[in-house]
Amino acid sequence: MRIAKDLADAVGNTPLIRLNKASEETGCEILGKAEFMNPGQSVKDRAALYIIKDAVAKGLLKPGGTIVEGTAGNTGIGLALVGASMGFKTVIVIPETQSQEKKDMIRLAGAELVQVPAAPYRNPNNYVRYSGRLAEELGRTSDKGVIWANQFDNVANRQAHIETTGPEIWKQTGGKVDGFICAAGSGGTVAGVGMALQPKGVKVGLADPMGAALYSFYTTGEFKSEGDSITEGIGQGRITANLEGFTPDFVCQVSDHEALPIVFDLLSEEGLVMGGSTGINVAGAIRMAKEMGPGHTIVTVLCDYGNRYQSKLFNPEFLTAKGLPVPKWLDRAPASIP
Ligand code: PMP
Repeated sequence: MRIAKDLADAVGNTPLIRLNKASEETGCEILGKAEFMNPGQSVKDRAALYIIKDAVAKGLLKPGGTIVEGTAGNTGIGLALVGASMGFKTVIVIPETQSQEKKDMIRLAGAELVQVPAAPYRNPNNYVRYSGRLAEELGRTSDKGVIWANQFDNVANRQAHIETTGPEIWKQTGGKVDGFICAAGSGGTVAGVGMALQPKGVKVGLADPMGAALYSFYTTGEFKSEGDSITEGIGQGRITANLEGFTPDFVCQVSDHEALPIVFDLLSEEGLVMGGSTGINVAGAIRMAKEMGPGHTIVTVLCDYGNRYQSKLFNPEFLTAKGLPVPKWLDRAPASIP
């Protein structure tokens, strides 16, 4: 293995891990791209790196400059860590409803954290729109440059997946890959990998959580959503700039009731401690495998590390309050010494 020049240089080149239970259930090879092994423990490190590199190349950020972003968490962690390694400050705007662990991690990573009440995108105080205004304001008094990362509509995000994630999957499988599927937050991952792999004949799917409107859009042309999901970082209600020009070959809608048992199985049976969006992704891969039939290779994304969701996804009281299943091993009392 080579020596990375710095933390930014250690982003990407993650392993593909065979998901044994899902593979056996479907007769396919279901492989997970281990994005939780990035330095910031999520897929968003790739977008963070490309957004920062793009701003530097355009002369928008000088040493000591500031990156502002509205994020559900992982992009904030990625921007803070990659930014610190490249000599930039970070200001992150986050909805109050996101997990405490992610907020703590963003602060720990050295970013300034601004919490705002959760509000829909049409509300001017929605975290994304708030962060855009904040960047503009800070930019007026800075001589080192202030950028709004704008992950949703900045296509440097999907460029990371066109240039790195997609080609890595192709190389790691030796071109023996039939399908790829994941959920969309900004849409950078699914559209970027799609743009890299669809021209090579790979079918690319979108797995949508409840409460998101992309499943409805891609199947009926209308943005409609129903239900909700405790998963974080995914669930989109519009065509972001990152999703523009991309059309999935397969779409499915996945409930928390289908996704969470998969998250718990990944942990207890395969040692993979994952966040909720990974459950949606693996459920999507299983659905796509069943649609394609046995003998195919399908890749999905292991998005982020599960310790970020200790107080929610792995908390029996939280799950019970939401009417969601609690696995036996999570509910048992901690071992005590007599
Ligand atoms: N899973 C998690 C946990 C995330 O934080 C995100 C990004 N917010 C995604 C999946 C979706 O990635 P993308 O923004 O590339 O669609």
